[in-house]
Amino acid sequence: MHKNFKNIEKIVYGRGSFDLMSGILSEKRKSGDGFFLYVVDNYFHGASLAKRIPAQRQDIIRFVNVDPCEPTTDQIDCLRDEVLSTKGIPAGVIGIGGGSIMDIAKAVSLMFTNEGSSTLYQGLDLIKKPGVYHLGVPTVSGTGAEISMTAVLTGPAKKLGLKCEWTVFNQVILDPDLIESVPADKWFYTGMDTYIHCIESENGILNNAFSHAYAEQSLKLCQEIYAGAGAGHTRENDDKLMVASLMGGLSLTYSEVGVCHALSYGLSKILGERHCFANCVAFQHLDDYYPKGVEEFKKMLLRHGIKLPAGLSKSWTDGQIASMAEVAYNLPHMWNHAVGPDWREKVTVETIKELYKRF
Ligand code: NAD
Ligand code: ZN
Repeated sequence: MHKNFKNIEKIVYGRGSFDLMSGILSEKRKSGDGFFLYVVDNYFHGASLAKRIPAQRQDIIRFVNVDPCEPTTDQIDCLRDEVLSTKGIPAGVIGIGGGSIMDIAKAVSLMFTNEGSSTLYQGLDLIKKPGVYHLGVPTVSGTGAEISMTAVLTGPAKKLGLKCEWTVFNQVILDPDLIESVPADKWFYTGMDTYIHCIESENGILNNAFSHAYAEQSLKLCQEIYAGAGAGHTRENDDKLMVASLMGGLSLTYSEVGVCHALSYGLSKILGERHCFANCVAFQHLDDYYPKGVEEFKKMLLRHGIKLPAGLSKSWTDGQIASMAEVAYNLPHMWNHAVGPDWREKVTVETIKELYKRF
């Protein structure tokens, strides 16, 4: 089946490119009363980067603490309602932060023009109208949220993205200076999200020459960053990681994720584990699905002194394992890609429970 996808309209890449934002936005500000909403990771509150945000008097800068939980539908609805009731619809939304902030910026930009709760739009092509202009500035690289056509939200019933063409950013600024401060463990987990995106994209029925070209290059970059002679969180590797993340995301757009992401969604939804960490926890146990990728992943773990928890499932109840397996089973597009169209004959909820028991 052909996929006719929309890409980011404009991308600027390079150290110092953050400071192009002022010029980029001045073209978008509507005459007179236009205002922008900046959604900024709380990590930057009081930091020098915050002082470089080109906000004008009428703009809103909202610092968001993303640590308590991944973005929720409630959080998006509240932010939208609050801004609407005080100032109306902004000329644009600017997200400055990691994957969580990318998703918050994308989701809230859509919810300014689509009525009701964001829970109504969790799924594919449920959004009715284009959102307002939105610009993303990633400060953590790996999830590919800066390029993807989904804004992942946890709602009362499901963890599922607002997924459609209009979710994609109008503009992205990729400034590798911004990821320098990411701590070593998060640098590893988020980079491995890119690595796993590529391994999963490559290993499934939807892989094609287009997705392969992006995955191949992204994997090569990941190998240089995490496994090669010059591996490490260095300036040169940060330049590469920003590109690897984008390309890994592009590969997925034309292919699909697989078993690891399905299991990771269960871990996040039921136990609240963070996306990239949850992927790492799951991936180490999937050598029967991704033998080469898991072997290389384990070497990278050792190389960077990362110890993932073992024996986790011993403390889980049967009910928790069953709930996680339900979440994972209800991601048919991932199993279809990874296992094939007859996946239901090979993978049952019981099979998935057994996979979780390896953790
Ligand atoms: P994050 O945005 O959750 O942030 C992780 C931590 O890093 C936070 O403590 C944050 O304050 C901190 N941080 C941010 N920038 C920093 C910097 N420059 N230096 C130091 N610390 C910094 O991290 P993430 O892993 O990039 O994103 C995870 C989120 O992305 C999840 O909510 C997940 O659901 C989502 N996600 C979305 C997609 C998509 O396609 N939309 C894909 C994968 C994951
Ligand atoms: Zn991922």
